[in-house]
Amino acid sequence: MKGERSPKAEEDFTEQAYSQLLALVLKHWVPVGFSRALEPDSNCLWRHDIDFSPQRAARLAELEADAGITATYFVHLHSTFYNALEPDSLAAYRRILAGGHELGLHVDLEALGPRDWTEELAHAWIRREGEMLTQVAETKVRSISFHNPTEAGWLPRSDEVAGYVNAYGPTIQKRYRYCSDSNGRWRFDRLEDVLREGRVEPLHVLTHPCWWPAQPMAARARVERCIEGRAQRTLTTYVNILSEAGRTDTPDPRA
Ligand SMILES: [Zn+2]
Repeated sequence: MKGERSPKAEEDFTEQAYSQLLALVLKHWVPVGFSRALEPDSNCLWRHDIDFSPQRAARLAELEADAGITATYFVHLHSTFYNALEPDSLAAYRRILAGGHELGLHVDLEALGPRDWTEELAHAWIRREGEMLTQVAETKVRSISFHNPTEAGWLPRSDEVAGYVNAYGPTIQKRYRYCSDSNGRWRFDRLEDVLREGRVEPLHVLTHPCWWPAQPMAARARVERCIEGRAQRTLTTYVNILSEAGRTDTPDPRA
């Protein structure tokens, strides 16, 4: 039927569709950074966990800045899809911050290997990693979100952890209605439907930038695009180093 779309439609996940969502949210909500999430008058949190691509994140950040929306981007220091400290990632953070957004820490305690977690030990790790991200991104990191929280064996559950606002703390979990894209589809409710309902209740939106390419693509192809884009940039860097060194006798690694 015309106008009827599957909640899993690939057309939901494009830059164009994303810009339409940004226009819709502003009708009833005012997204604020997670540093303000616990303030009683905050009514919308617009969150991105960067699991795959800081470059895709920077692109969405620019769309949000054009729309006048403040978002928070959570950086994963242990991602196997990007190096959070490499120059391309730092450049992406600068693009994000230039749009008036915040950076947070995407915490992955499982990446640190099996150990007997305690509040004290987790706080020490989170503080250390938050300070590292603050240093390299040259911005004050004030909030954390947890990677794969349902699969993690143990998580700190307080509103603030080691001085950081916790996206999985009880106040945020209770006060805000939650809407998330997960594995390239809507996990519970479709965000456009939620925004069109117009019920002005506090809203916590989680999206992952990788799922929002310029054109409609199957979910797996969106991940492959991020992986191949990074691999191509790495290869280009290598070829340029050879070229600048005048090593024309070295075989082309792409051959
Ligand atoms: Zn994650």
